[in-house]
Amino acid sequence: MYDIILKKRQGGELSTKEINYFIDGFTKGEIPDYQTSALLMTIFFSKMNHRETVDLTKAMMNSGDVMNLSGIKGVVVDKHSTGGVGDTTTLILAPMVAACGIPMAKMSGRGLGHTGGTIDKLESIDGFHTQMTKQEFIDRVNHIGIAIAGQTADLAPADKQLYALRDVTATVDNLSLIASSIMSKKLASGAQGILLDVKTGDGAFMKTQEDSFELAQMMIDIGTSMGRNVSAIITDMNQPLGRAVGNALEVKEAIDTLQGKGPEDLYKLCLTLGTELLILAGYTSSPQEALKTLQKKVEEGKAFEKFRELIKSQGGKLDQIDNPDLLPQGKYKVNLLSEEKQYIKSIKAEEVGLSALTLGAGRQTKESSIDLGVGIYLHKKVGELAEKDDPIATIYANDIEKAKIALEQLKHCYNYSKKPVPQRKLIYGIINKDGKKMLS
Ligand code: URA
Ligand code: CA
Repeated sequence: MYDIILKKRQGGELSTKEINYFIDGFTKGEIPDYQTSALLMTIFFSKMNHRETVDLTKAMMNSGDVMNLSGIKGVVVDKHSTGGVGDTTTLILAPMVAACGIPMAKMSGRGLGHTGGTIDKLESIDGFHTQMTKQEFIDRVNHIGIAIAGQTADLAPADKQLYALRDVTATVDNLSLIASSIMSKKLASGAQGILLDVKTGDGAFMKTQEDSFELAQMMIDIGTSMGRNVSAIITDMNQPLGRAVGNALEVKEAIDTLQGKGPEDLYKLCLTLGTELLILAGYTSSPQEALKTLQKKVEEGKAFEKFRELIKSQGGKLDQIDNPDLLPQGKYKVNLLSEEKQYIKSIKAEEVGLSALTLGAGRQTKESSIDLGVGIYLHKKVGELAEKDDPIATIYANDIEKAKIALEQLKHCYNYSKKPVPQRKLIYGIINKDGKKMLS
């Protein structure tokens, strides 16, 4: 390890053998954390080239189980978001795409931070569970076209351990380390087509568009060099997505969207992501046709019906789906009111997430439990007008003291303007097999 650290410190290129030696030893616990930390910091400053990044990804992918989805009929595609606030897309997108006959075999995680992950959100529904064997997972997908399983501990364990160290050594935000971390898990999950939703803005890992496009291209190059079809969409995270932030609130928002009455930005993003997924799956090569098909599945109720099938197949109670008011909901409602007539100029996405965390919507540490019924509903988003005394946001809480703190936090998230403010752009660009396209 000493030689490897020194070589990288001097700007050298690590060989495949050296990278494998490091990941193998680290995963087995044979390399002490202080040497791994030193290597991470040298990688942060000296950077890794494409070949090293691909090797690191492969080594982490092979550190645990690699899913074999060949038992599933059809081309399996998957979507991954680099992480945002109020990102409810999976709950909508997966049934929408499955309703088109594309198998959706999703492995999702629990969340650490702001709000829960997809699995936590779905557990707002009584009875819903994600424990199943690999065979049950495959059978479900073949039978109804969709299944959502919890990510097993054996999926890229090297990444899991490495991320925990990066988190405490200020070495998270290096492009090669982020790209290899995300792609090692996605490649191990077994999908042939992978769509990346790379978030950009103050609520995302990548704060600038330039870095976000670079990260997207790097992940595409990694996946492509390993024989997968990978596309990426670069999307805005300068305000939360949709209006709901919090687990059960987001489930309700997903149901609304599947029924064609959700927030416009969330629906638009799901349609855009869905279009790329249908193309990746080989359903069509025409974006117009893909878009039309998806809209039709929503309008005819097929997407919502697929969501019901998913919930039922994994033990969830359907009465909460048919009447979302039965989902868990915080006892107390506290409104943030507009003090005068004004336009919303900006909303600090990450801070809204932290305010939801105060209420208990997310985990402060790995051991914390989540309060599924709490969260924040944003009545007003950037560009919208609030009259005096209009509610701007509603806090749902189960603890009035926490609600007071969250309200103070939330107040600082909003900036206002007397003059009209344009709405924020949602989608910046797409990178797929046809190249890179910037959207205006
Ligand atoms: N998400 C991941 O899984 N890994 C990173 O390094 C950053 C975001
Ligand atoms: Ca949302």
